[in-house]
Amino acid sequence: MAKCVQKPSTKASRLERLSEEEFDKWILSKMDVCQCLDCSTHNKCAKNSGERLYCVVMRSPFCIDSKKGCLCKDCPVSLEFGFKKDYHCLVGAEIVRKA
Ligand code: SF4
Ligand code: SF4
Repeated sequence: MAKCVQKPSTKASRLERLSEEEFDKWILSKMDVCQCLDCSTHNKCAKNSGERLYCVVMRSPFCIDSKKGCLCKDCPVSLEFGFKKDYHCLVGAEIVRKA
């Protein structure tokens, strides 16, 4: 008999299931919580492009290409969702958004 395999629900999976509109609202609510603006790795290009919240959006498309320290591990967003990685601006998001 086939087993019913269900992906365990995580705090991050709640974000993955949000609609585009809900996700945009959530992003706006966390703009000032993200620590990137205070990080040495976050350069002028990233600031001018308004980049942050890489852990839930995507890696920096072209601004950041080297490591100069990372504040992700102590960030409230990372702690709230139990993210395991740092340097999200280089490695990318830890959530997978529905298509
Ligand atoms: S993702 Fe980490 S390394 Fe990159 S800018 Fe943000 S805090 Fe800094
Ligand atoms: S974990 Fe890193 S990229 Fe995500 S909100 Fe915090 S500082 Fe920003």
